Amino acid sequence: FVSYFPEASNREEVEDNTPEPESHIFIRIIICLFPTVDFLRNLFSKTLGISGEKVLDELTLEGVASYIQSGKCKNIICMVGAGISTSAGIPDFRSPDTGLYANLQKYNLPYPEAIFQIDYFKKHPEPFFALARELYPGQFKPTVCHYFIKLLKDKGLLKRCYSQNIDTLERVAGLEGEDLIEAHGTFYTSHCVSFMCRKEYDLDWMKEKIFSDDIPKCDKCSSLVKPDIVFFGENLPKRFFTSMAMDFPRCDLLIIMGTSLQVQPFAALVGRVSNSCPRLLINLEKAGGVSPLSCPSGFALDFSSSIHLCILADVAHISTCDDGCLAFADLLGWKAELEEMVKREHEKINSKAEEEQTAGKAESGKAESGKAESGKAAESGKAESGKAEVE
Ligand SMILES: [Zn+2]
Repeated sequence: FVSYFPEASNREEVEDNTPEPESHIFIRIIICLFPTVDFLRNLFSKTLGISGEKVLDELTLEGVASYIQSGKCKNIICMVGAGISTSAGIPDFRSPDTGLYANLQKYNLPYPEAIFQIDYFKKHPEPFFALARELYPGQFKPTVCHYFIKLLKDKGLLKRCYSQNIDTLERVAGLEGEDLIEAHGTFYTSHCVSFMCRKEYDLDWMKEKIFSDDIPKCDKCSSLVKPDIVFFGENLPKRFFTSMAMDFPRCDLLIIMGTSLQVQPFAALVGRVSNSCPRLLINLEKAGGVSPLSCPSGFALDFSSSIHLCILADVAHISTCDDGCLAFADLLGWKAELEEMVKREHEKINSKAEEEQTAGKAESGKAESGKAESGKAAESGKAESGKAEVE
């Protein structure tokens, strides 16, 4: 058998090879034929350099929960997409009727994707900023699923959250920059598009521009200023690639939520974990079950197999992300804590919004009574809040 697995001595190489190695397929066949023969399991495990123990007792949500409870699972990576934000009221991009692309007629675009095309944006920035006003982050509250990820962080289990979303709801839920890879960028910061300048602007500055109907222009060079979301024709953030190489080989459990795994290179991340790492998908439909040959990493998700030798611990939980996370939290004994967190944080966001509204009204009242004075007050207020942030 050993001579049958010439590549098995180097697992790194096995992971990086494009198609699933024939040896793995061969092992699946053998184990199917002799499911009770433990020595075969041990032999293959040793040959491939992986633990002979099954990682999951069963390929269900319960199985994954007891794996976490066993204490053996210390580094969880979450991969998330638009599906985790739909219950917050944010449209996803590709749904036929309700998706973003299906509702862009009013902007007279040559084709829907043009709104996120960097060349189109540089000539016609108006549609993007009109859409940004509609979808502005901060008008939405994080979902149960976002808070579940925060709970993983609080429990010391979250290695990193890789998000395709640009709505910043992960940050609103309490994840910090260090916890997050915003693979498709973020509204959190903005930059001047001129390569010579690249001046950075913060969220407050961009928010003011977006809501004042101004097209944001750089103070320094008058070029356009664009939120740091990744447009078509732009590279993914460097941190995506550096963190990916560091994080995935150390991952004990990959939780994939709310993504149809259609956009590369993000989707290929599922193939970056080690052979012994279970992968849990919580989604409305099974995703990522592509043929190993068409999967760039050679490691497609496979929910079809009823047996596993640590290699095939893929679990699909078909539900909304919120329901899936609640069910998962329930199995982990965290449900009350999660519900409490959601309630508390949503109340905080509501009361902050109310405060801002009241402050807004007061300010507009002031503006009517004396524009110059209120300008001064706002300026000094800003300076003060700036100080507070620095502190
Ligand atoms: Zn500039």
